[in-house]
Amino acid sequence: MTRGSCLCGGIHYQIHHEIGPIIYCHCQRCRKSSGSAFVTSTEILRSNFEVTQGQDLIKKFENEGKVDRFFCSHCGSQLYSQRASTPLIMRVRLGTLDDNIDTKVSSHIFVGSKAEWHDILDDAIQHQERP
Ligand SMILES: [Zn+2]
Ligand SMILES: [Zn+2]
Repeated sequence: MTRGSCLCGGIHYQIHHEIGPIIYCHCQRCRKSSGSAFVTSTEILRSNFEVTQGQDLIKKFENEGKVDRFFCSHCGSQLYSQRASTPLIMRVRLGTLDDNIDTKVSSHIFVGSKAEWHDILDDAIQHQERP
């Protein structure tokens, strides 16, 4: 079990599964939503994700009906995203983890649209878009 929470501590969650593979997404939507060079997430089954505190603080941003992004309505922390077409799968934002994990990044996606000011310096696989 791995625990996580948002910046203000209002929302706490637990993941009841091993974490990985870890994906860095460099697409423009992820950069905008995070305010950073990329978003770090891992795919898990919805059934392995449990909100233990603050469910009512979670708000959803719907972007063109494609990927919904879920965040804390108090502090703005992004927690996970989900596609309406695949409701059983969610992508958890690993920057919100509180527990340490041994897994390292496995791939970069949407490298074709990454920020020009950011250089990728690790050896993980790079995909121009979503593989
Ligand atoms: Zn919060
Ligand atoms: Zn993205």
